[in-house]
Amino acid sequence: MLERINGSFRAGFAALGLFALFSGGLPETELAPPRGAATDHVVVISIDGLRPDAIDKYDAETIQRLMREGTYSLEAQTIFPSKTLPSHTSMLTGVPPEVHGITFNSRQSDEHGVVEVPTVFAVAKERGFHTAAFFSKAKFHHLAQPGSLDYWQGPGSNISHWMATKTVPDAVRYLKHERPNLMFVHIGEPDYAGHAIGWMSFAYGWAVKRADGAVATVLEAADEAYGRGNYTVILTADHGGHDRDHGSDDPRDMTIPWIAWGKGAQTGVPLSVPIRTMDTAATALWLLGVDRPPGWVGRPVAAAFTPATRLAVRNALGGGPAPVH
Ligand SMILES: [Zn+2]
Repeated sequence: MLERINGSFRAGFAALGLFALFSGGLPETELAPPRGAATDHVVVISIDGLRPDAIDKYDAETIQRLMREGTYSLEAQTIFPSKTLPSHTSMLTGVPPEVHGITFNSRQSDEHGVVEVPTVFAVAKERGFHTAAFFSKAKFHHLAQPGSLDYWQGPGSNISHWMATKTVPDAVRYLKHERPNLMFVHIGEPDYAGHAIGWMSFAYGWAVKRADGAVATVLEAADEAYGRGNYTVILTADHGGHDRDHGSDDPRDMTIPWIAWGKGAQTGVPLSVPIRTMDTAATALWLLGVDRPPGWVGRPVAAAFTPATRLAVRNALGGGPAPVH
């Protein structure tokens, strides 16, 4: 089942008290999103359960290309528990589970509703940016705050997950008509294979290759939509895994890849700074020139970007103190 909130966009926008601010007497059709600081378009791709050491082992050539042409860490850390929903919530809210409160890892919409702290989508949307999310698991419903996403989709209550063969073509179709400033794409295959057969198994390797091909398809569509070199990608994962599970504080579960590529990104320099999954939300906002909400633990990974990019963002943010890393 496809679930959409397109219809509630205007209502959510109005609820945020911003419609009047941005309408300014112009016809609604002339409302344009604001410009970003370093880039106008950030695409965050999360590959569920992708271990950093799987990228070379299974020759994930698109991801290897992003690493070669961009910059990366293969030692980034997710939060504990290293599980899909708590981890993605930290990735997309900039705060750890103790703060966002999503410590469960299943869809419990009836009991818990959506996450209470603002997501990166809500913060960007509040500033007038166009936001979109393509989720492959039903539990992501917890991250779709009303009014925060111009478009989102994910499996409904009758199915727990989608393959990339569903999610990615939908994202590609969306990019034919829309130009989101912040887009999130979640690809599940490695996690499915890890649970079924085992992390680093033959089946897992096949799934990593499938995910890598899905990334290539997203990039082709983004090239077409935004223009080659005119958008910035952050590619990461929610957790690793070992045997047939994850969730522990074992380094194989906790260590994730974090890759920055495209507009503004450094080239060919591996990152030596410590990176945590909360930094993904902070970096996306930073690239768009949006201040982090108070209390965010995530910090922009400024080292992943060129000096000119860092300066542009600093100017956009009012010349405040440089980020720690
Ligand atoms: Zn996961």
